[in-house]
Amino acid sequence: MPRKPLIAANWKMHSPPEGWDAEDSPYRTRETTDIVVFPAFVDIRTCLEKFLTVGAQYGRPEPKGAFTGDVSMQILSGHGCTYVLCGHSERRKFHGETDQFVADQARMALEAGMIPVVCVGETWEERDAGRAQETVERQMRAVEGLPVTYAYEPVWAIGTGKTATPEDAQAMHAFIRSLLPSDLATTTRILYGGSVKGENAASLLSQPDIDGALVGGASLEPKSFREILNAVPLAPLTPLS
Ligand code: PEP
Repeated sequence: MPRKPLIAANWKMHSPPEGWDAEDSPYRTRETTDIVVFPAFVDIRTCLEKFLTVGAQYGRPEPKGAFTGDVSMQILSGHGCTYVLCGHSERRKFHGETDQFVADQARMALEAGMIPVVCVGETWEERDAGRAQETVERQMRAVEGLPVTYAYEPVWAIGTGKTATPEDAQAMHAFIRSLLPSDLATTTRILYGGSVKGENAASLLSQPDIDGALVGGASLEPKSFREILNAVPLAPLTPLS
């Protein structure tokens, strides 16, 4: 696998889990696997002080201004964030984030020197109606040509205990990759998200177009998170000639 695996812990509106800062914390980046935590804004600094790689769960696309309660990409980057989630389905649902807003966020994140993790994925109704690819393609078109990381997160699998089968997830990841311009297709990381846990991680992460996972619930339990990390296939990082 030419792409280094990335496992992301989305702690959502929870405090860092017990043991997050332990000597053998599973949340620390490893030689073979990039690991990033997405804490609440107020915990970003503490996580950085313990040398974790940190991302923000959200950032505003404008560089500054009268946006009470919001944080700009420049501020996040200046505070040491490496990644930022853009268009998580919970933000799309509860904050009305549109494809255009997500594209503006991604552009500004790149300008600020961060890696945008753009979340895409269909609802159950869209999948049921045979429109899963159409939805994902529409969401992707908004950020077309930008060097972002993608997270394919079927909305019906987030926090529900339901997971896409490895075959269905792989099919969507291959579809996503097929939409990328040729200069980005082989290097872009595409994460899978949606009830990933120790028991299903190996079968998902062994798929050729799944480059890692965006983990919500199981990332709040260090033991479960460690199990997911242990399921990352240790493939060579560069293709053997
Ligand atoms: C998420 O929040 O992005 C997510 C995938 O959550 P969970 O793992 O709990 O489904």
